[in-house]
Amino acid sequence: MKKKVFVIGGGPAGIMAAGKAAELGNDVILLEKNDRLGKKILISGKGRCNVTSNTDIEGLIKNTPGNGNFLYSSFYTFSNHDLIAMLNGLGLETKVERGERVFPVSDNSKDVVDALWKFLKLKGVSVRLNSPVDSIITKDGKVTGIITRDGKKLECDCVILATGGVSYPGTGSTGDGFKIAKELGHKIIDLKPSLVPLLAKEKWVKDLQGLSLKNVEISLKNSKGKKIYSDFGEMLFTHFGVSGPLILSASRHILEYEYKDVVLSIDLKPALNEEKLYDRLTRDFEKYSRKQFKNALDDLLPSKMIPVVIDLSLISPEKFVNQITKEEKRSLVKLLKNLEINICGARPITEAIVTAGGVSTLEINPSTMESKLINGLFFAGEIIDVDAYTGGFNLTIAFSTGYLAGANC
Ligand SMILES: Cc1cc2nc3c(=O)[nH]c(=O)nc-3n(C[C@H](O)[C@H](O)[C@H](O)COP(=O)(O)OP(=O)(O)OC[C@H]3O[C@@H](n4cnc5c(N)ncnc54)[C@H](O)[C@@H]3O)c2cc1C
Repeated sequence: MKKKVFVIGGGPAGIMAAGKAAELGNDVILLEKNDRLGKKILISGKGRCNVTSNTDIEGLIKNTPGNGNFLYSSFYTFSNHDLIAMLNGLGLETKVERGERVFPVSDNSKDVVDALWKFLKLKGVSVRLNSPVDSIITKDGKVTGIITRDGKKLECDCVILATGGVSYPGTGSTGDGFKIAKELGHKIIDLKPSLVPLLAKEKWVKDLQGLSLKNVEISLKNSKGKKIYSDFGEMLFTHFGVSGPLILSASRHILEYEYKDVVLSIDLKPALNEEKLYDRLTRDFEKYSRKQFKNALDDLLPSKMIPVVIDLSLISPEKFVNQITKEEKRSLVKLLKNLEINICGARPITEAIVTAGGVSTLEINPSTMESKLINGLFFAGEIIDVDAYTGGFNLTIAFSTGYLAGANC
């Protein structure tokens, strides 16, 4: 039977849900409060859109620390490989980069949004921009309609709520869906920032703001010194602490620690073990034997980092290099291999890549995305209490849950 379906939110989850529901012969209207669709997609992957991952389904689940098990049906019904095939079919060529990350060949996220517009047109979805929705009307535990922000009551059989989280509110994700779901009796699990820049206690970190370090290894240790996580890549110092791809990925591993009482250790020279780094220092110090310590590190470190390392080494900057002792050199090696920063918090949720928390998965049927409380109400995307690491996994969640909701409404 042909149903009238409203999809609220024109991000990846809502677009996919609307297209699928229309493909099945329903009369589908997609309501987006912005004047364009997919604003967050446009800024995703630094404007390149890491649209999914090339991994297998177990890989998708493993990379979804926030309720990954809830997503088995979504991923098996519409997988990352189905998504790639769909986008390719819409004329969007994709490529796989390091870490199985999938991007459009054009490196332009706008091409992803254009392909999704094409999808909506092909399936016959009616799109209404500048159309914020305020609430959902129900009767006897069943959806009967919606109320738009300008007060209009519109009747329907089903609603798919895909309004995203509360991160980067400038893209339209301002948390409206949480209010709407709560009004209907749904439990909202506490919203927390995930994939977020971290705050540092040390003052010297601020002195390094703007400095980006490539090819470093970081590890995170808890207050008992137990290693929680380690990875290799690129990070950035900022006026508040640390950021960059490596830090954002690492941050999800300390959400459970509330981003506090964790030590970040940076190995500035991961390619060299302590012995090799000692030999390297010895060679540099021979080359600069008549120079002062402060003028002998140019080959080893970025210039902004030199005063900080000198300060932390406790070796006098004026000391001539040929007077530096073996012990001092050994402790310098230790410092370069283990530059420690105390993490004391995270930037606000509005600056997080993803919102952790959301509509409780216990109240959503994982096989259909339908609410267990209200008939005809479906959820899709970041509004649900699921979240994943970086690598294309969060967009995959949005598309897969959107597909499942659209297929079952
Ligand atoms: C800077 C940044 C970079 C990212 N990069 C990547 C990446 O490369 N790869 C990846 O996998 N993930 C990435 N993410 C995460 C990913 O973009 C999100 O997880 C994903 O967009 C969530 O999709 P969604 O459809 O659930 O929500 P959203 O994309 O947030 O879409 C929700 C839509 O609902 C609309 N809306 C909200 N309230 C209402 C209302 N009341 N009425 C009507 N419409 C409403 C909003 O305007 C918005 O268009 C990134 C996120 C950010 C912030």
